[in-house]
Amino acid sequence: MPNKIPAFCADLHCHSTISDGVYAPEVVAERAHAHGVTLWALTDHDEVSGQQRARTRAEALGMQYLSGVEISVTWAKKTVHIVGLGIDPENVTLRQGLRETRAGRAGRARRIGERLAKLGMPGAFEGARTFAGNPELISRTHFARFLVEAGHCPTTQSVFDHYLSDDGPAHEPMQWATLEDAVTWIRGAGGVAVIAHPGRYHYTLTQFGALFDTFKDVGGQAIEVITGSHTVPQYQEYAQVARHYDFLASCGSDFHSAKESKIEFGSLPPLPADLKPVWKDLV
Ligand code: AMP
Ligand code: MN
Ligand code: MN
Ligand code: MN
Repeated sequence: MPNKIPAFCADLHCHSTISDGVYAPEVVAERAHAHGVTLWALTDHDEVSGQQRARTRAEALGMQYLSGVEISVTWAKKTVHIVGLGIDPENVTLRQGLRETRAGRAGRARRIGERLAKLGMPGAFEGARTFAGNPELISRTHFARFLVEAGHCPTTQSVFDHYLSDDGPAHEPMQWATLEDAVTWIRGAGGVAVIAHPGRYHYTLTQFGALFDTFKDVGGQAIEVITGSHTVPQYQEYAQVARHYDFLASCGSDFHSAKESKIEFGSLPPLPADLKPVWKDLV
């Protein structure tokens, strides 16, 4: 019998305890590998301190690894996430930019806690902090976990649906990094900038056009087409966007935890064959 050659499987978007995932970088690597991923990137929010740990375990397991990050950006008054792939995690300008991007999280978390207290859920700031490994990276996900534990909501998704989504009553407006800065930091660190899960943004068609044009103008090169955040029709929709703008295409589960994530590693369909994959010049 000929040896079975493992199928290629890329997953270039997920999270560890360094940001709002629930498993350590090494454990995420093991989980990705166990589910058949062969090209992997850990993309924690606004932080690269898990990169060496992720790479070391990934390579020991025989996976190819791309260094990654997911940067929080404010564009047209809404939050957009820009993934950077193939970055040098030691790049000083990138690290400084991420530090500045993270800096607003502590004050924002206090204000979210105040909003939740007014809505009848006291102690959420302190509670969320116990879920956040790094207090600098405290996020809405940590609040969601606390509110579930405290019995206010049955699932983290229901917390977002009722309180913490971008138009929810406990949401705090934020000024994250600019689109141009995020793309420039990623490019400066040798990486490719990717618009994460475009299907999640509540922009008008005109705004989407301006977002893609501006992203391209400032040096952005890629877009997520196949992601755990997209519906099947959105796979087609953003494949068309990739063709129209000549963007490279990326794919990833956006895995955070077994309980909370809709999509497990290794369960997404491959990218449409005619699209140029984002890893084309990176591996
Ligand atoms: P933050 O960086 O604090 O704004 O938190 C953003 C994180 O919250 C995202 O990366 C997701 O993990 C989660 N999140 C945001 N919006 C939603 C939503 N509508 N449903 C579920 N999770 C969400
Ligand atoms: Mn997240
Ligand atoms: Mn995201
Ligand atoms: Mn993500």
